[in-house]
Amino acid sequence: MEGKPLIKISVSDNAWQARLASRFLKSDNAAIVFGRNIYLWGSSKQAFLGNQRWLLHELQHVLQYQRDGFTGFIFKYFINHIRYGYRNNPYEVEARAAEQNEELLKQFDLP
Ligand SMILES: [Zn+2]
Repeated sequence: MEGKPLIKISVSDNAWQARLASRFLKSDNAAIVFGRNIYLWGSSKQAFLGNQRWLLHELQHVLQYQRDGFTGFIFKYFINHIRYGYRNNPYEVEARAAEQNEELLKQFDLP
C-alpha cells in the first residue's frame, strides 16, 4: 500500500515578503507562507527548521493551501482577517493548534 506523496516545501530566509509580515505583526521575526514556499525574516532557515513548534505552525498553513487552493486560501484568509483579526482568524487558530501535532511532519519532504 502506498501513502500519499510527500509535500515538498521550500524555505527562504531574508525574504522581503516576510519582512512586510514582521512589520505588520510588529515582531522581530516572521514567516509567511505562499503555497509550498515558506518565507522568513529575522530567522535563519536552520533556526526555523530547528524550532518544531514554529515549523509545525507554518506547515499547517501549507496544508491549508492544499485544502483550499492557492487563491481560495488567500481570499478566505483575508476575509477572515477582516472579520476576526489576526489572532482569532480560524486559519491562525488551526495553525496554533497544530504546533503540538508532530504527526504533521510525516506528510512533508523538508529541505
Ligand atoms: Zn500563522
